[in-house]
Amino acid sequence: MQLFRGRRPIGRRAIAGLFFLFVGGLYQGALAQSGPEVEDKRFRIIGELELTGSTLPLAGQDFLADPAIVPEIDAARVDLRPAWQRHAAPSYNAPGQPVIAIVIDDLGMNPTTVARAVDLEGPLTLSFLPYAKGIARSVVAARDAGHEVLAHIPMEPLNPAQRPGPNTLKLSQSPRELRWRLSWALDRVPGSVGISNHMGSKFTADTSAMSLVLAEVKQRGMLYLDSLTIETSRGAPLADQMGMPFLQRDIFIDHRAADKGSVLTQLEKLKGLALKRGYAVGIGHPHESTFAALEEWLPHLDQTQIALVPVSVIAAREAPTVRSLPASGAMVE
Ligand SMILES: [Zn+2]
Repeated sequence: MQLFRGRRPIGRRAIAGLFFLFVGGLYQGALAQSGPEVEDKRFRIIGELELTGSTLPLAGQDFLADPAIVPEIDAARVDLRPAWQRHAAPSYNAPGQPVIAIVIDDLGMNPTTVARAVDLEGPLTLSFLPYAKGIARSVVAARDAGHEVLAHIPMEPLNPAQRPGPNTLKLSQSPRELRWRLSWALDRVPGSVGISNHMGSKFTADTSAMSLVLAEVKQRGMLYLDSLTIETSRGAPLADQMGMPFLQRDIFIDHRAADKGSVLTQLEKLKGLALKRGYAVGIGHPHESTFAALEEWLPHLDQTQIALVPVSVIAAREAPTVRSLPASGAMVE
């Protein structure tokens, strides 16, 4: 190729310029192809935030960087606290006052039981199965009513006859698959403070599987509530080692065949434990007897004596040390 005309070089610079123009063109073309997909994704995320009623976006979302999409975010007002604090339900307790948290598990599949749980006096902690249909709406209703929300992550039980549901975390899955399933579940329950395990008597007893799950949860700034479906669960000891917020279930307030009277008895046990130790965590399920008992018991709870709080308060306040399973902790999955 002739690079020189007389004494003046056409210039390597000119050739380099042409080359960059060509590469730039390719890049623009690629942007034009991927552009709409990126925008759709961003609008979807913003849509979810609007649904949650939250005024502040989740940390680290890339749409913050694009003023064309979110034109008026005041950087000074962006809440940089971790998700478990940012999404905490409002509550009050005096310093040193005994507190109890009541969690209702397995919610989302039945709109009637969701409405019943949401209508209970709170703040309670409502734990939603990520694969439930129309879950975003349920979560918004729960948060608007002043309750706190957990993602109730399905994990593999020891008994294969028990079915935790779609996208269950299993020991046979690769780390990549586990991360994908967990991420899918967490995206389905926006505005949650953390996760708890649905079933999981096999999965939670495995150190490497739980290490992976908890690392993801910690990275997202969330807390872990161990439902303790098996006493050898590795969840709480690992969360403790990893320095992340966590807590453990003390008492299941119901079981499948429980009548209202036995749920009330369990609630009194929960109260007794809180008075003795300073805090207690109870877990119930969306059964008729459980709702009937809570509808009767909650309005009569003397909150000058014991404050009803969401799980985030206990995770923040108690910095619990890992403890053995209390005598009243019957195994329920
Ligand atoms: Zn469950």
